[in-house]
Amino acid sequence: MSKSNPTPVAPAANFIRNIVEADLAAGKYALRRWAGRPGLAEAHAQAPLDPARIRTRFPPEPNGYLHFGHAKSICLNFGLARDFGGRCHLRFDDTNPEKEEQEYVDSIVDAVKWLGFDWQDEQENNLYYASNYFPWMLQCAEYLIAAGHAYVDSQSAEEMRANRGTLTEKGKDSPFRNRSIAENQDLFKRMQAGEFADGTHVLRAKIDMASPNINLRDPAIYRIRHATHHNTGDQYCVYPMYTFAHPIEDALENITHSICTLEFEDQRPFYDWLLERLAEGGLLQRPLPQQYEFSRLNLTYVVLSKRKLIQLVEERHVAGWDDPRMPTLVGARRRGYTPQGFQLLMDRVGVSKNDALIDYSLLEDCMRETMNEQDERRIAVLDPLKLVITNYPEGQSELCQAPNHPLKPELGKRDMPFSRELWIEREDFMEAPSKGYHRLYPGNMARLRYGYVVKCTGCEKDDSGKITAVLCEYLPETRSGTPGADSVKVKGNLHWVCAAHACTAEVRLYDRLFKTPSPGAGDTDFLTELNPDSCRRITAQLEACLKEARPGQRFQFERHGYFVADPIDSKAGAPVFNRAVTLKDSWGKTGG
Ligand code: ATP
Ligand code: MG
Repeated sequence: MSKSNPTPVAPAANFIRNIVEADLAAGKYALRRWAGRPGLAEAHAQAPLDPARIRTRFPPEPNGYLHFGHAKSICLNFGLARDFGGRCHLRFDDTNPEKEEQEYVDSIVDAVKWLGFDWQDEQENNLYYASNYFPWMLQCAEYLIAAGHAYVDSQSAEEMRANRGTLTEKGKDSPFRNRSIAENQDLFKRMQAGEFADGTHVLRAKIDMASPNINLRDPAIYRIRHATHHNTGDQYCVYPMYTFAHPIEDALENITHSICTLEFEDQRPFYDWLLERLAEGGLLQRPLPQQYEFSRLNLTYVVLSKRKLIQLVEERHVAGWDDPRMPTLVGARRRGYTPQGFQLLMDRVGVSKNDALIDYSLLEDCMRETMNEQDERRIAVLDPLKLVITNYPEGQSELCQAPNHPLKPELGKRDMPFSRELWIEREDFMEAPSKGYHRLYPGNMARLRYGYVVKCTGCEKDDSGKITAVLCEYLPETRSGTPGADSVKVKGNLHWVCAAHACTAEVRLYDRLFKTPSPGAGDTDFLTELNPDSCRRITAQLEACLKEARPGQRFQFERHGYFVADPIDSKAGAPVFNRAVTLKDSWGKTGG
Protein backbone atom coordinates (compact mmCIF):
# COMPACT_ATOMS: atom_id res chain seq x y z
CA MET A 1 0.00 0.00 0.00
CA SER A 2 0.96 3.57 -0.42
CA LYS A 3 3.02 5.10 2.33
CA SER A 4 0.48 7.82 2.78
CA ASN A 5 -1.93 5.37 4.33
CA PRO A 6 -1.65 5.73 8.09
CA THR A 7 -0.39 2.92 10.24
CA PRO A 8 -3.08 1.01 12.09
CA VAL A 9 -3.83 1.53 15.75
CA ALA A 10 -3.53 -2.22 16.47
CA PRO A 11 -6.77 -3.10 14.68
CA ALA A 12 -9.07 -5.35 16.62
CA ALA A 13 -9.98 -8.72 15.16
CA ASN A 14 -13.36 -8.94 13.50
CA PHE A 15 -15.15 -11.51 11.41
CA ILE A 16 -14.06 -9.97 8.12
CA ARG A 17 -10.40 -9.87 9.14
CA ASN A 18 -10.72 -13.51 10.17
CA ILE A 19 -12.09 -14.39 6.74
CA VAL A 20 -9.28 -12.54 4.99
CA GLU A 21 -6.67 -14.27 7.16
CA ALA A 22 -8.16 -17.68 6.43
CA ASP A 23 -8.34 -16.95 2.68
CA LEU A 24 -4.71 -15.85 2.61
CA ALA A 25 -3.60 -18.88 4.63
CA ALA A 26 -5.42 -21.14 2.16
CA GLY A 27 -3.90 -19.33 -0.83
CA LYS A 28 -7.39 -18.82 -2.20
CA TYR A 29 -6.49 -15.83 -4.36
CA ALA A 30 -2.80 -16.53 -4.91
CA LEU A 31 -3.09 -17.50 -8.58
CA ARG A 32 -5.18 -14.58 -9.82
CA ARG A 33 -3.71 -12.55 -12.61
CA TRP A 34 -3.97 -8.80 -12.99
CA ALA A 35 -3.71 -6.92 -16.24
CA GLY A 36 -2.87 -3.71 -14.41
CA ARG A 37 -6.36 -2.42 -15.04
CA PRO A 38 -9.90 -3.80 -14.92
CA GLY A 39 -10.98 -6.18 -17.64
CA LEU A 40 -12.63 -9.40 -18.73
CA ALA A 41 -11.06 -12.83 -18.11
CA GLU A 42 -9.14 -12.85 -21.40
CA ALA A 43 -7.27 -9.64 -20.54
CA HIS A 44 -6.24 -10.85 -17.10
CA ALA A 45 -5.35 -14.34 -18.35
CA GLN A 46 -2.34 -13.02 -20.31
CA ALA A 47 -1.07 -10.95 -17.39
CA PRO A 48 1.32 -11.61 -14.47
CA LEU A 49 0.14 -12.73 -11.03
CA ASP A 50 -1.71 -10.05 -9.11
CA PRO A 51 0.80 -8.30 -6.82
CA ALA A 52 -2.03 -7.36 -4.45
CA ARG A 53 -2.76 -10.15 -1.96
CA ILE A 54 -6.35 -8.95 -1.65
CA ARG A 55 -8.38 -6.28 -3.39
CA THR A 56 -11.19 -4.35 -1.74
CA ARG A 57 -13.07 -1.31 -2.93
CA PHE A 58 -15.02 1.67 -1.68
CA PRO A 59 -17.81 2.19 -4.23
CA PRO A 60 -19.76 5.41 -3.59
CA GLU A 61 -22.50 6.59 -5.86
CA PRO A 62 -21.53 10.21 -6.66
CA ASN A 63 -24.95 11.56 -5.78
CA GLY A 64 -24.18 13.34 -2.51
CA TYR A 65 -21.48 14.15 0.00
CA LEU A 66 -19.98 11.42 2.17
CA HIS A 67 -21.27 11.09 5.71
CA PHE A 68 -19.85 9.54 8.89
CA GLY A 69 -21.31 6.16 7.87
CA HIS A 70 -19.22 6.17 4.72
CA ALA A 71 -16.15 6.77 6.87
CA LYS A 72 -16.76 3.37 8.43
CA SER A 73 -16.77 1.69 5.04
CA ILE A 74 -13.67 3.65 3.96
CA CYS A 75 -11.72 2.79 7.12
CA LEU A 76 -12.73 -0.86 6.79
CA ASN A 77 -11.92 -1.33 3.10
CA PHE A 78 -8.76 0.74 2.94
CA GLY A 79 -7.69 -0.58 6.35
CA LEU A 80 -7.93 -4.21 5.21
CA ALA A 81 -5.90 -3.52 2.08
CA ARG A 82 -3.28 -1.66 4.12
CA ASP A 83 -2.99 -4.37 6.76
CA PHE A 84 -2.93 -7.40 4.45
CA GLY A 85 -0.68 -6.30 1.61
CA GLY A 86 -3.60 -5.54 -0.63
CA ARG A 87 -5.03 -2.65 -2.54
CA CYS A 88 -8.26 -0.76 -2.18
CA HIS A 89 -9.94 0.83 -5.18
CA LEU A 90 -11.96 3.99 -5.16
CA ARG A 91 -14.75 3.27 -7.60
CA PHE A 92 -17.46 5.71 -8.56
CA ASP A 93 -20.58 3.70 -8.98
CA ASP A 94 -21.98 6.01 -11.62
CA THR A 95 -24.17 3.68 -13.64
CA ASN A 96 -27.36 5.58 -12.88
CA PRO A 97 -27.58 8.40 -15.44
CA GLU A 98 -29.81 10.75 -13.51
CA LYS A 99 -28.22 11.81 -10.29
CA GLU A 100 -24.47 12.08 -10.56
CA GLU A 101 -22.51 15.31 -10.52
CA GLN A 102 -18.85 16.30 -10.75
CA GLU A 103 -19.16 18.33 -7.55
CA TYR A 104 -19.84 15.09 -5.66
CA VAL A 105 -16.99 13.23 -7.35
CA ASP A 106 -14.54 15.95 -6.32
CA SER A 107 -15.74 16.07 -2.75
CA ILE A 108 -15.53 12.26 -2.41
CA VAL A 109 -11.94 12.28 -3.67
CA ASP A 110 -11.09 14.98 -1.12
CA ALA A 111 -12.86 13.21 1.72
CA VAL A 112 -11.12 9.86 1.23
CA LYS A 113 -7.73 11.60 1.06
CA TRP A 114 -8.57 13.69 4.09
CA LEU A 115 -9.30 10.51 6.06
CA GLY A 116 -5.73 9.53 5.26
CA PHE A 117 -6.15 6.96 2.50
CA ASP A 118 -4.96 6.68 -1.05
CA TRP A 119 -5.78 4.48 -4.04
CA GLN A 120 -2.61 5.40 -5.88
CA ASP A 121 1.00 4.35 -5.38
CA GLU A 122 4.14 3.93 -7.46
CA GLN A 123 2.65 0.98 -9.35
CA GLU A 124 -1.07 1.49 -9.56
CA ASN A 125 -3.74 4.12 -9.72
CA ASN A 126 -6.96 2.43 -8.69
CA LEU A 127 -9.51 5.16 -9.27
CA TYR A 128 -12.32 3.87 -11.46
CA TYR A 129 -15.66 4.87 -12.91
CA ALA A 130 -18.16 2.06 -13.31
CA SER A 131 -19.64 3.81 -16.35
CA ASN A 132 -16.44 3.00 -18.23
CA TYR A 133 -17.45 -0.64 -17.99
CA PHE A 134 -20.72 -0.25 -19.95
CA PRO A 135 -19.37 -2.06 -23.05
CA TRP A 136 -18.34 -5.06 -20.89
CA MET A 137 -21.66 -5.03 -19.09
CA LEU A 138 -23.48 -5.17 -22.40
CA GLN A 139 -21.27 -8.03 -23.46
CA CYS A 140 -22.21 -9.85 -20.25
CA ALA A 141 -25.90 -9.22 -20.87
CA GLU A 142 -25.62 -10.47 -24.44
CA TYR A 143 -23.86 -13.58 -23.24
CA LEU A 144 -26.66 -14.28 -20.75
CA ILE A 145 -29.23 -13.96 -23.54
CA ALA A 146 -27.25 -16.26 -25.83
CA ALA A 147 -26.88 -18.84 -23.07
CA GLY A 148 -30.60 -18.76 -22.30
CA HIS A 149 -30.10 -17.02 -18.94
CA ALA A 150 -31.87 -13.77 -19.78
CA TYR A 151 -34.95 -12.62 -21.68
CA VAL A 152 -36.68 -9.43 -22.73
CA ASP A 153 -39.87 -8.90 -20.78
CA SER A 154 -42.52 -6.63 -22.28
CA GLN A 155 -44.95 -6.58 -19.40
CA SER A 156 -45.84 -3.20 -17.95
CA ALA A 157 -44.20 -2.21 -14.68
CA GLU A 158 -47.53 -2.88 -12.97
CA GLU A 159 -47.87 -6.35 -14.40
CA MET A 160 -44.33 -7.16 -13.41
CA ARG A 161 -44.98 -6.00 -9.89
CA ALA A 162 -48.20 -7.99 -9.64
CA ASN A 163 -46.54 -11.14 -10.97
CA ARG A 164 -43.53 -10.93 -8.71
CA GLY A 165 -45.48 -12.45 -5.81
CA THR A 166 -44.86 -11.74 -2.15
CA LEU A 167 -42.87 -13.15 0.73
CA THR A 168 -45.52 -15.82 1.20
CA GLU A 169 -46.69 -16.23 -2.38
CA LYS A 170 -44.74 -17.45 -5.38
CA GLY A 171 -44.37 -15.26 -8.44
CA LYS A 172 -45.90 -15.99 -11.86
CA ASP A 173 -43.92 -16.50 -15.03
CA SER A 174 -44.12 -13.66 -17.50
CA PRO A 175 -45.91 -14.51 -20.77
CA PHE A 176 -42.68 -13.38 -22.47
CA ARG A 177 -40.42 -15.67 -20.47
CA ASN A 178 -40.08 -18.28 -23.17
CA ARG A 179 -39.18 -16.03 -26.06
CA SER A 180 -36.59 -17.60 -28.32
CA ILE A 181 -32.95 -16.63 -27.94
CA ALA A 182 -33.05 -15.04 -31.39
CA GLU A 183 -36.09 -12.95 -30.51
CA ASN A 184 -34.45 -11.81 -27.26
CA GLN A 185 -31.28 -10.90 -29.13
CA ASP A 186 -33.23 -8.92 -31.67
CA LEU A 187 -35.25 -7.06 -29.05
CA PHE A 188 -32.22 -6.26 -26.90
CA LYS A 189 -30.42 -4.87 -29.98
CA ARG A 190 -33.42 -2.70 -30.72
CA MET A 191 -33.65 -1.57 -27.10
CA GLN A 192 -30.06 -0.38 -27.43
CA ALA A 193 -30.76 1.26 -30.77
CA GLY A 194 -33.37 3.49 -29.15
CA GLU A 195 -36.43 2.04 -30.89
CA PHE A 196 -38.48 1.82 -27.68
CA ALA A 197 -39.73 4.22 -25.06
CA ASP A 198 -38.65 4.11 -21.40
CA GLY A 199 -40.35 1.28 -19.52
CA THR A 200 -41.67 -0.63 -22.52
CA HIS A 201 -39.20 -3.51 -22.27
CA VAL A 202 -36.81 -4.79 -19.62
CA LEU A 203 -34.06 -7.36 -19.82
CA ARG A 204 -34.43 -9.88 -16.99
CA ALA A 205 -32.28 -12.70 -15.69
CA LYS A 206 -34.06 -16.03 -16.10
CA ILE A 207 -33.76 -17.72 -12.73
CA ASP A 208 -36.84 -18.86 -10.80
CA MET A 209 -40.16 -17.07 -10.28
CA ALA A 210 -40.93 -19.49 -7.45
CA SER A 211 -37.76 -18.78 -5.47
CA PRO A 212 -38.33 -18.04 -1.79
CA ASN A 213 -35.84 -15.17 -2.28
CA ILE A 214 -37.69 -12.47 -4.19
CA ASN A 215 -34.38 -11.17 -5.52
CA LEU A 216 -34.01 -14.36 -7.53
CA ARG A 217 -37.42 -14.04 -9.21
CA ASP A 218 -36.03 -13.03 -12.57
CA PRO A 219 -34.51 -9.70 -11.47
CA ALA A 220 -34.32 -6.89 -14.02
CA ILE A 221 -30.78 -6.36 -15.28
CA TYR A 222 -31.14 -3.73 -18.02
CA ARG A 223 -33.75 -1.02 -18.45
CA ILE A 224 -34.45 1.57 -21.12
CA ARG A 225 -33.70 5.12 -20.06
CA HIS A 226 -33.42 7.92 -22.57
CA ALA A 227 -31.19 10.07 -20.42
CA THR A 228 -27.88 11.87 -20.76
CA HIS A 229 -25.12 10.36 -18.65
CA HIS A 230 -22.44 12.64 -17.18
CA ASN A 231 -19.66 10.44 -18.60
CA THR A 232 -21.09 8.65 -21.63
CA GLY A 233 -23.47 11.39 -22.74
CA ASP A 234 -26.17 10.10 -25.11
CA GLN A 235 -24.21 7.05 -26.22
CA TYR A 236 -26.57 4.66 -24.39
CA CYS A 237 -30.28 4.54 -23.82
CA VAL A 238 -30.18 1.30 -21.84
CA TYR A 239 -28.61 1.24 -18.39
CA PRO A 240 -27.77 -1.70 -16.11
CA MET A 241 -29.52 -2.17 -12.79
CA TYR A 242 -27.31 -1.73 -9.73
CA THR A 243 -27.62 -5.39 -8.69
CA PHE A 244 -26.35 -6.49 -12.10
CA ALA A 245 -23.67 -3.85 -12.47
CA HIS A 246 -22.08 -4.10 -9.06
CA PRO A 247 -20.93 -7.75 -9.08
CA ILE A 248 -19.55 -7.31 -12.59
CA GLU A 249 -17.63 -4.19 -11.53
CA ASP A 250 -16.11 -6.18 -8.66
CA ALA A 251 -15.10 -9.03 -10.93
CA LEU A 252 -13.61 -6.79 -13.64
CA GLU A 253 -11.46 -5.11 -10.96
CA ASN A 254 -10.27 -8.40 -9.45
CA ILE A 255 -11.89 -7.56 -6.14
CA THR A 256 -11.49 -10.45 -3.70
CA HIS A 257 -13.60 -9.27 -0.76
CA SER A 258 -16.61 -7.17 -1.70
CA ILE A 259 -17.75 -5.67 1.56
CA CYS A 260 -21.13 -4.01 1.87
CA THR A 261 -23.77 -3.20 4.43
CA LEU A 262 -26.34 -5.70 5.70
CA GLU A 263 -29.25 -4.62 3.52
CA PHE A 264 -27.50 -6.34 0.61
CA GLU A 265 -27.51 -9.74 2.30
CA ASP A 266 -30.57 -10.89 0.32
CA GLN A 267 -28.82 -9.87 -2.88
CA ARG A 268 -25.88 -12.17 -2.29
CA PRO A 269 -27.49 -15.22 -3.99
CA PHE A 270 -28.00 -13.17 -7.15
CA TYR A 271 -24.46 -11.79 -6.89
CA ASP A 272 -23.14 -15.36 -6.83
CA TRP A 273 -25.55 -16.64 -9.50
CA LEU A 274 -24.62 -13.89 -11.92
CA LEU A 275 -20.85 -14.20 -11.50
CA GLU A 276 -21.04 -18.01 -11.78
CA ARG A 277 -22.91 -17.78 -15.09
CA LEU A 278 -20.43 -15.24 -16.48
CA ALA A 279 -17.43 -17.27 -15.33
CA GLU A 280 -18.96 -20.39 -16.93
CA GLY A 281 -19.17 -18.38 -20.12
CA GLY A 282 -15.48 -17.52 -19.85
CA LEU A 283 -16.14 -13.80 -19.44
CA LEU A 284 -14.86 -13.47 -15.88
CA GLN A 285 -11.74 -14.72 -14.20
CA ARG A 286 -11.93 -17.16 -11.27
CA PRO A 287 -11.75 -17.19 -8.30
CA LEU A 288 -14.71 -14.83 -8.21
CA PRO A 289 -15.14 -12.01 -5.72
CA GLN A 290 -17.23 -12.77 -2.68
CA GLN A 291 -19.63 -10.47 -0.93
CA TYR A 292 -19.58 -10.00 2.86
CA GLU A 293 -22.01 -7.86 4.81
CA PHE A 294 -21.49 -5.86 7.99
CA SER A 295 -23.81 -3.58 9.95
CA ARG A 296 -23.94 0.09 9.12
CA LEU A 297 -22.78 2.78 11.46
CA ASN A 298 -25.71 4.37 13.28
CA LEU A 299 -25.05 7.34 15.54
CA THR A 300 -27.34 9.09 18.00
CA TYR A 301 -28.44 12.71 17.44
CA VAL A 302 -27.73 12.73 13.70
CA VAL A 303 -29.19 11.23 10.54
CA LEU A 304 -26.92 9.19 8.27
CA SER A 305 -28.87 8.91 5.07
CA LYS A 306 -28.04 10.81 1.93
CA ARG A 307 -31.71 11.40 1.24
CA LYS A 308 -32.28 13.09 4.60
CA LEU A 309 -29.05 15.05 4.39
CA ILE A 310 -30.05 16.37 0.98
CA GLN A 311 -33.34 17.46 2.49
CA LEU A 312 -31.56 19.34 5.30
CA VAL A 313 -29.48 21.21 2.75
CA GLU A 314 -32.15 21.87 0.15
CA GLU A 315 -34.73 23.06 2.67
CA ARG A 316 -32.04 25.24 4.28
CA HIS A 317 -32.23 23.80 7.77
CA VAL A 318 -28.43 24.02 7.67
CA ALA A 319 -26.12 26.39 5.82
CA GLY A 320 -24.88 23.73 3.38
CA TRP A 321 -23.22 20.33 3.09
CA ASP A 322 -20.24 21.67 5.00
CA ASP A 323 -22.22 23.21 7.83
CA PRO A 324 -20.18 22.23 10.92
CA ARG A 325 -23.29 20.60 12.42
CA MET A 326 -23.74 18.24 9.47
CA PRO A 327 -22.61 14.61 9.89
CA THR A 328 -20.81 14.86 6.56
CA LEU A 329 -17.05 14.61 6.18
CA VAL A 330 -16.92 18.14 4.74
CA GLY A 331 -18.89 19.32 7.77
CA ALA A 332 -16.57 17.44 10.13
CA ARG A 333 -13.56 19.01 8.56
CA ARG A 334 -14.97 22.48 8.94
CA ARG A 335 -15.98 21.68 12.50
CA GLY A 336 -12.36 20.83 13.26
CA TYR A 337 -12.81 17.06 13.69
CA THR A 338 -9.71 14.97 12.96
CA PRO A 339 -9.25 12.09 10.50
CA GLN A 340 -7.39 10.25 13.26
CA GLY A 341 -10.48 10.63 15.46
CA PHE A 342 -12.58 8.89 12.82
CA GLN A 343 -10.10 6.04 12.55
CA LEU A 344 -10.08 5.66 16.30
CA LEU A 345 -13.88 5.67 16.37
CA MET A 346 -14.11 2.96 13.72
CA ASP A 347 -11.59 0.83 15.59
CA ARG A 348 -13.63 1.18 18.77
CA VAL A 349 -16.97 0.61 17.11
CA GLY A 350 -15.65 -2.52 15.41
CA VAL A 351 -17.14 -4.51 12.55
CA SER A 352 -19.97 -6.97 13.09
CA LYS A 353 -23.39 -7.97 11.89
CA ASN A 354 -25.17 -6.54 14.92
CA ASP A 355 -27.12 -3.36 14.40
CA ALA A 356 -25.90 -1.10 17.17
CA LEU A 357 -26.70 2.53 17.79
CA ILE A 358 -23.46 4.26 18.73
CA ASP A 359 -23.61 7.14 21.16
CA TYR A 360 -22.45 10.41 19.63
CA SER A 361 -20.37 11.02 22.74
CA LEU A 362 -18.12 8.12 21.72
CA LEU A 363 -17.27 10.03 18.56
CA GLU A 364 -16.60 13.14 20.65
CA ASP A 365 -14.33 11.16 22.99
CA CYS A 366 -12.30 9.95 20.03
CA MET A 367 -12.01 13.45 18.59
CA ARG A 368 -11.02 14.86 21.97
CA GLU A 369 -8.34 12.23 22.48
CA THR A 370 -6.68 13.01 19.18
CA MET A 371 -7.01 16.77 19.66
CA ASN A 372 -5.61 16.67 23.18
CA GLU A 373 -2.54 15.08 21.69
CA GLN A 374 -2.26 17.33 18.63
CA ASP A 375 -3.41 20.79 19.60
CA GLU A 376 -1.47 23.65 21.09
CA ARG A 377 -3.07 25.51 23.98
CA ARG A 378 -4.29 29.07 23.83
CA ILE A 379 -6.40 31.35 25.99
CA ALA A 380 -9.82 32.67 25.06
CA VAL A 381 -12.40 34.50 27.15
CA LEU A 382 -15.82 33.62 25.82
CA ASP A 383 -17.99 35.76 28.10
CA PRO A 384 -15.73 38.72 28.79
CA LEU A 385 -15.79 40.92 31.90
CA LYS A 386 -13.17 43.62 32.58
CA LEU A 387 -10.74 43.09 35.44
CA VAL A 388 -8.93 46.24 36.58
CA ILE A 389 -5.77 45.83 38.63
CA THR A 390 -5.83 49.11 40.51
CA ASN A 391 -2.29 48.90 41.88
CA TYR A 392 -0.69 48.11 38.50
CA PRO A 393 0.70 51.24 36.87
CA GLU A 394 -1.22 52.63 33.92
CA GLY A 395 0.65 52.36 30.64
CA GLN A 396 2.91 49.59 31.92
CA SER A 397 2.90 46.06 30.55
CA GLU A 398 5.00 42.90 30.80
CA LEU A 399 5.12 39.47 29.21
CA CYS A 400 4.01 36.28 30.92
CA GLN A 401 5.02 32.86 29.57
CA ALA A 402 2.48 30.13 28.86
CA PRO A 403 3.40 26.60 27.73
CA ASN A 404 2.10 25.68 24.26
CA HIS A 405 1.42 22.06 25.15
CA PRO A 406 1.61 20.57 28.66
CA LEU A 407 2.41 17.11 27.26
CA LYS A 408 4.99 18.37 24.78
CA PRO A 409 7.49 20.73 26.42
CA GLU A 410 9.44 20.71 23.13
CA LEU A 411 6.72 22.94 21.69
CA GLY A 412 7.99 25.68 23.93
CA LYS A 413 6.27 28.66 25.48
CA ARG A 414 4.74 31.81 24.14
CA ASP A 415 4.53 35.32 25.50
CA MET A 416 1.26 36.72 26.78
CA PRO A 417 1.10 40.46 27.44
CA PHE A 418 -0.14 41.46 30.89
CA SER A 419 -1.19 44.94 31.96
CA ARG A 420 -3.60 46.89 34.15
CA GLU A 421 -6.79 45.87 32.34
CA LEU A 422 -7.59 42.28 31.48
CA TRP A 423 -10.58 40.27 30.31
CA ILE A 424 -11.79 37.44 32.52
CA GLU A 425 -14.85 35.19 32.28
CA ARG A 426 -17.98 36.73 33.73
CA GLU A 427 -18.59 33.53 35.71
CA ASP A 428 -15.24 33.96 37.46
CA PHE A 429 -16.61 36.73 39.66
CA MET A 430 -19.50 36.60 42.13
CA GLU A 431 -20.45 39.54 44.28
CA ALA A 432 -22.03 37.20 46.82
CA PRO A 433 -20.25 33.86 46.41
CA SER A 434 -22.07 30.57 46.68
CA LYS A 435 -20.68 27.87 48.94
CA GLY A 436 -17.46 26.33 47.64
CA TYR A 437 -16.82 29.14 45.14
CA HIS A 438 -13.08 29.83 45.03
CA ARG A 439 -12.77 32.37 42.29
CA LEU A 440 -13.05 36.15 42.62
CA TYR A 441 -15.36 37.79 45.16
CA PRO A 442 -14.69 40.80 47.36
CA GLY A 443 -11.92 39.90 49.79
CA ASN A 444 -10.85 36.67 48.08
CA MET A 445 -7.62 35.88 46.29
CA ALA A 446 -7.12 33.81 43.14
CA ARG A 447 -4.31 33.22 40.69
CA LEU A 448 -4.30 34.66 37.19
CA ARG A 449 -2.84 31.70 35.41
CA TYR A 450 0.78 32.23 34.21
CA GLY A 451 0.62 35.65 35.94
CA TYR A 452 0.04 36.88 39.47
CA VAL A 453 -2.15 36.26 42.48
CA VAL A 454 -4.75 39.03 42.78
CA LYS A 455 -7.02 40.05 45.63
CA CYS A 456 -10.51 41.19 44.72
CA THR A 457 -11.50 44.55 46.16
CA GLY A 458 -14.93 45.14 44.63
CA CYS A 459 -16.74 45.79 41.39
CA GLU A 460 -18.36 48.50 39.28
CA LYS A 461 -21.93 48.44 37.98
CA ASP A 462 -24.00 50.33 35.46
CA ASP A 463 -27.38 51.95 36.18
CA SER A 464 -29.21 48.69 35.66
CA GLY A 465 -27.06 46.97 38.25
CA LYS A 466 -25.10 44.93 35.74
CA ILE A 467 -21.49 44.36 36.70
CA THR A 468 -19.21 46.20 34.27
CA ALA A 469 -15.80 45.67 35.87
CA VAL A 470 -14.15 43.79 38.69
CA LEU A 471 -11.52 45.56 40.75
CA CYS A 472 -8.48 43.92 42.31
CA GLU A 473 -4.92 44.42 43.49
CA TYR A 474 -2.05 42.20 42.49
CA LEU A 475 0.67 40.76 44.72
CA PRO A 476 3.91 41.59 42.84
CA GLU A 477 5.98 38.85 44.49
CA THR A 478 3.67 36.03 43.27
CA ARG A 479 4.52 36.01 39.59
CA SER A 480 4.34 32.47 38.13
CA GLY A 481 7.73 30.89 37.61
CA THR A 482 9.44 32.99 40.29
CA PRO A 483 10.41 31.76 43.78
CA GLY A 484 7.57 33.78 45.32
CA ALA A 485 4.89 32.10 43.22
CA ASP A 486 3.94 29.66 45.98
CA SER A 487 4.20 32.13 48.83
CA VAL A 488 0.46 32.70 48.80
CA LYS A 489 -1.82 29.68 48.56
CA VAL A 490 -5.06 30.13 46.58
CA LYS A 491 -7.66 27.73 45.27
CA GLY A 492 -8.92 29.57 42.22
CA ASN A 493 -6.91 29.67 38.99
CA LEU A 494 -8.37 31.93 36.28
CA HIS A 495 -7.58 32.50 32.67
CA TRP A 496 -7.43 35.97 31.20
CA VAL A 497 -6.32 37.98 28.21
CA CYS A 498 -4.82 41.45 28.17
CA ALA A 499 -7.54 43.92 27.09
CA ALA A 500 -5.22 46.20 25.13
CA HIS A 501 -3.87 43.36 22.99
CA ALA A 502 -6.87 41.03 22.75
CA CYS A 503 -8.24 39.82 19.44
CA THR A 504 -12.01 40.33 19.32
CA ALA A 505 -13.53 37.48 17.31
CA GLU A 506 -16.73 35.65 16.54
CA VAL A 507 -16.88 32.20 18.10
CA ARG A 508 -19.52 29.63 17.19
CA LEU A 509 -20.59 27.16 19.81
CA TYR A 510 -22.29 24.10 18.42
CA ASP A 511 -24.70 21.73 20.04
CA ARG A 512 -26.37 18.57 18.70
CA LEU A 513 -28.22 19.10 15.44
CA PHE A 514 -31.22 17.13 16.75
CA LYS A 515 -32.94 17.20 20.12
CA THR A 516 -33.65 13.47 20.20
CA PRO A 517 -31.24 10.52 20.09
CA SER A 518 -32.99 8.84 17.14
CA PRO A 519 -34.44 11.57 14.95
CA GLY A 520 -37.37 10.35 12.91
CA ALA A 521 -37.65 7.08 14.81
CA GLY A 522 -41.17 5.76 15.01
CA ASP A 523 -43.59 7.80 12.98
CA THR A 524 -42.17 11.25 13.59
CA ASP A 525 -40.82 13.54 10.91
CA PHE A 526 -37.11 13.93 11.67
CA LEU A 527 -37.29 17.63 10.80
CA THR A 528 -39.58 18.33 13.75
CA GLU A 529 -36.77 17.16 16.02
CA LEU A 530 -34.15 19.66 14.89
CA ASN A 531 -32.49 21.44 17.80
CA PRO A 532 -33.27 25.16 17.40
CA ASP A 533 -30.22 26.05 19.54
CA SER A 534 -27.63 24.01 17.70
CA CYS A 535 -25.49 27.04 16.85
CA ARG A 536 -24.79 29.98 19.16
CA ARG A 537 -22.61 32.86 17.96
CA ILE A 538 -20.78 34.94 20.51
CA THR A 539 -18.13 37.63 20.51
CA ALA A 540 -15.09 36.56 22.46
CA GLN A 541 -11.77 38.08 23.50
CA LEU A 542 -8.86 35.96 22.41
CA GLU A 543 -5.20 35.92 23.18
CA ALA A 544 -3.46 38.34 20.81
CA CYS A 545 -1.52 35.73 18.82
CA LEU A 546 -4.76 34.05 17.69
CA LYS A 547 -5.27 36.94 15.31
CA GLU A 548 -2.72 35.20 13.09
CA ALA A 549 -4.43 31.79 13.20
CA ARG A 550 -4.47 30.15 9.78
CA PRO A 551 -7.84 29.01 8.45
CA GLY A 552 -8.25 25.38 9.52
CA GLN A 553 -5.75 25.67 12.38
CA ARG A 554 -7.00 24.20 15.63
CA PHE A 555 -6.22 24.89 19.29
CA GLN A 556 -7.35 23.93 22.71
CA PHE A 557 -8.79 27.02 24.36
CA GLU A 558 -8.00 26.29 27.98
CA ARG A 559 -11.15 25.44 30.01
CA HIS A 560 -13.39 25.66 26.91
CA GLY A 561 -12.52 22.88 24.51
CA TYR A 562 -11.07 22.52 21.03
CA PHE A 563 -11.63 25.23 18.44
CA VAL A 564 -10.76 25.54 14.80
CA ALA A 565 -10.34 28.73 12.76
CA ASP A 566 -13.23 28.33 10.32
CA PRO A 567 -11.62 27.53 6.97
CA ILE A 568 -14.24 29.46 5.00
CA ASP A 569 -15.25 32.47 7.09
CA SER A 570 -11.87 33.34 8.64
CA LYS A 571 -10.10 36.23 6.96
CA ALA A 572 -6.45 37.20 7.30
CA GLY A 573 -6.10 38.85 10.70
CA ALA A 574 -9.80 38.25 11.51
CA PRO A 575 -10.41 34.63 12.43
CA VAL A 576 -13.79 33.10 13.22
CA PHE A 577 -13.61 30.07 15.48
CA ASN A 578 -15.80 26.96 15.60
CA ARG A 579 -15.93 24.83 18.69
CA ALA A 580 -15.24 21.26 17.62
CA VAL A 581 -15.80 19.66 21.00
CA THR A 582 -15.81 20.67 24.64
CA LEU A 583 -13.28 19.51 27.21
CA LYS A 584 -14.22 16.36 28.98
CA ASP A 585 -13.22 17.55 32.42
CA SER A 586 -15.15 20.49 33.68
CA TRP A 587 -13.19 23.37 35.02
CA GLY A 588 -14.28 22.28 38.52
CA LYS A 589 -11.10 20.43 39.43
CA THR A 590 -8.52 23.05 38.68
CA GLY A 591 -10.51 26.23 38.68
CA GLY A 592 -12.86 25.78 41.65
P1 ATP B 1 -27.14 6.27 2.06
O1 ATP B 1 -27.82 5.05 2.58
O2 ATP B 1 -26.77 7.26 3.09
O3 ATP B 1 -27.86 6.91 0.93
P2 ATP B 1 -25.59 4.76 0.30
O4 ATP B 1 -25.30 3.40 0.81
O5 ATP B 1 -26.67 4.88 -0.66
O6 ATP B 1 -25.76 5.75 1.50
P3 ATP B 1 -23.32 4.76 -1.38
O7 ATP B 1 -22.70 5.89 -2.09
O8 ATP B 1 -23.99 3.72 -2.17
O9 ATP B 1 -24.32 5.41 -0.35
O10 ATP B 1 -22.32 4.13 -0.34
C1 ATP B 1 -20.99 3.80 -0.59
C2 ATP B 1 -20.56 2.77 0.41
O11 ATP B 1 -20.71 3.24 1.74
C3 ATP B 1 -21.41 1.53 0.29
O12 ATP B 1 -20.56 0.40 0.26
C4 ATP B 1 -22.25 1.55 1.53
O13 ATP B 1 -22.56 0.25 1.97
C5 ATP B 1 -21.36 2.29 2.53
N1 ATP B 1 -22.16 2.94 3.56
C6 ATP B 1 -23.16 3.83 3.39
N2 ATP B 1 -23.71 4.18 4.57
C7 ATP B 1 -23.03 3.50 5.53
C8 ATP B 1 -23.12 3.43 6.96
N3 ATP B 1 -24.02 4.14 7.66
N4 ATP B 1 -22.25 2.62 7.61
C9 ATP B 1 -21.33 1.92 6.93
N5 ATP B 1 -21.19 1.93 5.59
C10 ATP B 1 -22.03 2.71 4.89
MG1 MG C 1 -26.43 3.25 -2.20
